[in-house]
Amino acid sequence: MVKTMSKSHYIIPVFVPDLGCPHQCVFCNQKMITGQVSCPTQEEVQLTITDYLGTIPRETGIFKEVAFYGGSFTSVDPLLQKELLTPAYKALKSGAIEGIRVSTRPDSISEETLALLASYGVSIVELGVQSMDDEVLCRSGRGHTSRDVLRAAALIKSWGIDLGFQMMIGLPGDTEEKDIFTASELISMKPDLVRIYPCLVLKNTRLADLHKNGDYIPLNLEQAVVCCKRLLLMFENAGINVIRIGLQPSEQINLQGDVLAGPYHPAFRELVETAAARDQVELLLKKAGVKSAKLIEIAVPEQDISITRGHKGSNIEYFSRNHGVTDFVTVTAPELPRGTLKLISVDGREYGFTVSRKELSC
Ligand code: SF4
Repeated sequence: MVKTMSKSHYIIPVFVPDLGCPHQCVFCNQKMITGQVSCPTQEEVQLTITDYLGTIPRETGIFKEVAFYGGSFTSVDPLLQKELLTPAYKALKSGAIEGIRVSTRPDSISEETLALLASYGVSIVELGVQSMDDEVLCRSGRGHTSRDVLRAAALIKSWGIDLGFQMMIGLPGDTEEKDIFTASELISMKPDLVRIYPCLVLKNTRLADLHKNGDYIPLNLEQAVVCCKRLLLMFENAGINVIRIGLQPSEQINLQGDVLAGPYHPAFRELVETAAARDQVELLLKKAGVKSAKLIEIAVPEQDISITRGHKGSNIEYFSRNHGVTDFVTVTAPELPRGTLKLISVDGREYGFTVSRKELSC
């Protein structure tokens, strides 16, 4: 299935599990995450692109991108990199797609690798950073340090290639403070996009053994949501696009019980955004000096209605439980920018001020 980043941005994913990865991170089972066991051939990449393009609407203003996910793309033999990139590059040259991105490790970035990627039209490199704390990196078996991240990020930027970061919370030795530190370090490198993943215990990983022996305790869902909410606000306040929070549900993960432990939820991002919207409504009530009320009316941009009411109505339940609210009314307000809520009235008393997500403290 083609992934949509937005209605006008389509991703054609090509998964390259274990490709050239020189390490074995404690949490990783690439085959399970990508749902694929072998590296695609050049013909298969070509076929994937052709098939996916056939399903994308033929309208103007649509951005189509081939994304090489998984593994460690720039660690593999340059000849194989070229082979895999060739069909994507041809599609780029012909105007069938508008961009190509790859994911890789920070210590697999050099002038030579970037020269190769640039010559094949790669416009985004996503670095699997995971943490900027060297102890966490070491205990997670990453095989690189925070210095590698700083060096790789600077090199990628010097080539004029867009920079993406992937970070992970709840790794061995990690704390929320370390996650906040990691986010501040990432922000200081001015990336173009970020992905945040809570660490999960997957089958057939070293983390599964550590967990079994009681040497690793994963975050619970609530801890992960609270931490990711803080990180999301930090990145948003710095003007950085967080394009994903939480592992994508795949059939392997949902159906085969491959997540042994950890904060997995198929709608994880919605839980995080629900928590942020709840804080916003709390702030609206605080500003209005309201501790309890029966009826509250809030104006909400259309796209934020569901997170304001909460995943499965969880915010409605929360305000009923904590503030006695029996009527939690959300009114669609197309004039409001996303992330802004306006208090209309409380028990018939009119207000009219707003709280934006930017006003929440991280
Ligand atoms: S570097 Fe990436 S692909 Fe390799 S083991 Fe770690 S997470 Fe998995």
